[in-house]
Amino acid sequence: MSRLLIRNIGLLLSGDLKNPILDADTVLAGDGKITAVGKRKDIDAEGATLVIDAKGTTLAPGLIDSHVHPVAGDWTPRQNQIGWIDSYLHGGVTTMISAGEVHTPGRPKDVVGLKAMAIFAQRAFSAFRPGGVRIHAGAPVIEHGMVEEDFKDLAAAGVTMLGEVGLGSVKDGATARQMVAWARKYGIQSTIHTGGPSIPGSSLIDKDIVLAADADVIGHINGGHTALPDEQIVALCEQSPRALEIVHNGNEKAALLTLRTAKALKHLDRVILGTDSPAGSGVQPLGILRMISMLSSLADVPAEVAVCFATGNTARIRNLDCGLIEPGRAATFVMIDKAQHSPGKTVLESIQRGDLPGIGMVIIDGVVSAQRSRNTPPATAVPEIGAS
Ligand SMILES: [Zn+2]
Repeated sequence: MSRLLIRNIGLLLSGDLKNPILDADTVLAGDGKITAVGKRKDIDAEGATLVIDAKGTTLAPGLIDSHVHPVAGDWTPRQNQIGWIDSYLHGGVTTMISAGEVHTPGRPKDVVGLKAMAIFAQRAFSAFRPGGVRIHAGAPVIEHGMVEEDFKDLAAAGVTMLGEVGLGSVKDGATARQMVAWARKYGIQSTIHTGGPSIPGSSLIDKDIVLAADADVIGHINGGHTALPDEQIVALCEQSPRALEIVHNGNEKAALLTLRTAKALKHLDRVILGTDSPAGSGVQPLGILRMISMLSSLADVPAEVAVCFATGNTARIRNLDCGLIEPGRAATFVMIDKAQHSPGKTVLESIQRGDLPGIGMVIIDGVVSAQRSRNTPPATAVPEIGAS
């Protein structure tokens, strides 16, 4: 049995909105799962096989990107780049959710073809984790002609979510609602594209279609990239109980409007973050960190709360085993510190001022996947391996 001890944690962010900062300095994990969180003197770390001295830095759950468009392996044809997922690992992202493998060249749009592609993507990304990043993929885009049996077949084959509703031929509320309901019946979660077309060939999905479809996640409520008018965004926050997904490749003003509206409604638990990348604006290895900083600094949300949008909130809404620091959850962490020369006094203050934190280590399922990030500004202090 592997046993991981992380000691000397300066600040422990839980990912849980209700209690975002834990009074603890030590985390213990066994076989990739958290077994104890507390004070060093209270934790029996006998037999630890890997000891990490956090050096007083901050430990948070690994970041979850709720909206990516992977295709195959660590390659994206959108900008013809390789190694993009490994680069996100260096931005603290440990888990990604596919919103559809829509950039696949020659993507099949007939029913048997789209089902086959979803099952292929689910299998391939289950078996291949670039840099250790866990990718939940295999997200079919619904098309006219699908029947209830298709959703039953997909679920039986291991498909757990739909790609963005609206990217295929189904763009009317009534058909979308029927298919989303069939998907939900068989345990398949759904996300809907919101706003104007992303790229030529994509189309407008307005608030009436989003409300009619009633998908589990209001995908990129701040547009991907073109946002709906303000009053429609506010109406979605007020009239739908579903998750409010804010993305990096969206409209930033609309992102702030969404967050302020959710805050006023006391619905911050519905806010989740994604990049919606790769996209026309490329790949963004630091996209989730940038969203946390942007939302915290410009919408006056404490940094420890903004971290929850990319961790615990997403884990709860997406039914993931990571995203929260509590026994039984995946031992998947990002360890950060104030970036060198940031004027903030603490890492949280530096984020609230709009700076990015520096990443010192990323751990996925109890395994060290990256040490000092090659992509973030350098962290002031970094954790060390093997000092017990
Ligand atoms: Zn979209």
